[in-house]
Amino acid sequence: MQGLLIDPGALPPECEALRAEVRAFLAEEMPAVTPLRRNRNWTGADAAFSRKMGERGWLGMTWPKRYGGHERSMLERYVVLEEMLAVGAPVAAHWIADRQSGPLLMRYAPDTLAPRIVPLIARGEAFFCIGMSEPDSGSDLASIRSRAERRADHRGEGWVINGRKVWTSGAHRAHFMICLVRTGQRDAGGSDNRHGGMSQFLVDMTTPGLTVRPIINQLGEHDFNEVTFDDVFVPADHLIGNEGDGWKQVGAELAFERSGPERYLSSSQLLLEMLDVADADDPRHAVALGRVVAQYGTLRQMSLGVAAMLARGENPALAASLVKDQGALVEQAMPDLAHELFGGTVEPGSTLHQSMLYTTLAVPSFSLRGGTREILRGIIAKGLDLR
Ligand SMILES: Cc1cc2nc3c(=O)[nH]c(=O)nc-3n(C[C@H](O)[C@H](O)[C@H](O)COP(=O)(O)OP(=O)(O)OC[C@H]3O[C@@H](n4cnc5c(N)ncnc54)[C@H](O)[C@@H]3O)c2cc1C
Repeated sequence: MQGLLIDPGALPPECEALRAEVRAFLAEEMPAVTPLRRNRNWTGADAAFSRKMGERGWLGMTWPKRYGGHERSMLERYVVLEEMLAVGAPVAAHWIADRQSGPLLMRYAPDTLAPRIVPLIARGEAFFCIGMSEPDSGSDLASIRSRAERRADHRGEGWVINGRKVWTSGAHRAHFMICLVRTGQRDAGGSDNRHGGMSQFLVDMTTPGLTVRPIINQLGEHDFNEVTFDDVFVPADHLIGNEGDGWKQVGAELAFERSGPERYLSSSQLLLEMLDVADADDPRHAVALGRVVAQYGTLRQMSLGVAAMLARGENPALAASLVKDQGALVEQAMPDLAHELFGGTVEPGSTLHQSMLYTTLAVPSFSLRGGTREILRGIIAKGLDLR
């Protein structure tokens, strides 16, 4: 069934050799993982698993060797990602750091900081969370109120952060947060510049004054959190990039966040379950599931195209928004399709039934996390010069 979902296609030979290596590793590491567990896909976390991936050289794959990276291609990285997602490997602990925090630090953090922290990510020893959203600021990120003030005291030269972040995925297991806060006026640089006055900091999650409280999602799982900052001191060299450039940097970071195969491979376990019980002679099954498999094939081509853009150093913001928007649509339709095709016949307690229950509760978040549908469509419209 997996072959149907992820056709290896015509990737270069080194990718296929790597795919075989990853599959052998996963067969050894995850022999007894239940289909239900596989539904959790990239939200399952296991620090030991992340370290093993680091040992294999599958984190920081495309990064320069001087940062602990492996200088491999974006396509090779893509193969590792899709193989991990296809079997629901527990990748959540390192996912954010490998996807966006490492690249952000290498690009913008001072030379005193990046060479110290980034190799830890590549070894699977440092996990990150993203502190962007606040209680009253989600889509309108420019309205954040958390603030950093310059301070020099007995702790040295640095900044003191006060405020509150919310929906922070993985904050309870992260070693560091990349935090977006206000360091100046909203209209810094001109009264029409509503994106001015924001900066990004690297925050050690063990710093006194920082508190992480769980928020339980509607699946009953602890994945995201509320994080409060009460006079949290951050050393001067933990400012990432230039003061006031936060908005520009966040834009680049979000392109990484929206571009990967996780944006269309979150409900794939339910598709596999449906394919397992489908009746090939039933035209309803054949047509409906054939259509979804074709949609997956298309999304994969588009997603690979984004990986190729990243490899060429192009800005994938528009293309990544399209893949994420279309991926969420296909995946959010999956529970309804399962109900339509199998609702009357599914055996209670079967893996299909459990997968239907899980996915029904999971999918609403797919068009919220990483940017809502309306926001992505705004980016697409702008990118196509339609507004
Ligand atoms: C599972 C999950 C994990 C998350 N993890 C993180 C994380 O790790 N770090 C982090 O910082 N945040 C995280 N978030 C937060 C996420 O980024 C926000 O939920 C998202 O940006 C939307 O913000 P909001 O929830 O405040 O909704 P709002 O911005 O209030 O939006 C509510 C509704 O209004 C619509 N809307 C808003 N503005 C416009 C507009 N201008 N035009 C048209 N429609 C509009 C939205 O599309 C949406 O449908 C996570 C969210 C989820 C669900």
